[in-house]
Amino acid sequence: NSQLDLESLIVDIPDYPEPGVVFKDITPLLGDPQGLAAAVDRIAEHFKDAGVTKVVGAEARGFMVGAPVAYKLGAGFVPARKPGKLPREVVCETYALEYGTDELQIHADALTPDDVVLLVDDLVATGGTAVAQVKLVEKFGARMAGLGFLMELEFLHPREVIAQATDADMFSLVQVK
Ligand code: IMP
Repeated sequence: NSQLDLESLIVDIPDYPEPGVVFKDITPLLGDPQGLAAAVDRIAEHFKDAGVTKVVGAEARGFMVGAPVAYKLGAGFVPARKPGKLPREVVCETYALEYGTDELQIHADALTPDDVVLLVDDLVATGGTAVAQVKLVEKFGARMAGLGFLMELEFLHPREVIAQATDADMFSLVQVK
């Protein structure tokens, strides 16, 4: 488990979803029993002493990685969703995309100021999605324990962007230079 090469289970898809972009497809990693276990175990191991009470993950791949990490840590899982998906009162955060804006929402009763939050996603690129979730967590007065990712696109410098929003520990399993 500790020796398994996770990077070999993440596949480059050139020109997807548009020309010039290389999409990192994590579905082979999710589909590999040892790969999935190693990825979840390594993120949970890194944050095992952080006192995490809730894992926040954004749809859709943040659910796939975040929920098993929450289970492993003995924490709850809180979905951050696109507008119109959550049925009750929500707290919202709008964030900029390359073209236009997007929004993430969390149920208004999903976090309290007593919560210690780990944010989990499959991949961090510009850091915009992660920063939006950090701002959402702050609206609840909850404490950020850290951010965990399968893959970090270092050439887009997400670490610097996230450091401007929170001093919480950021951890990634695979870095792309
Ligand atoms: P960011 O906001 O630019 O950091 O983009 C990160 C978000 O976009 C995450 O929720 C990822 O799931 C998704 N994402 C961006 N690029 C990729 C990719 O190459 N593979 C998988 N997901 C990606």
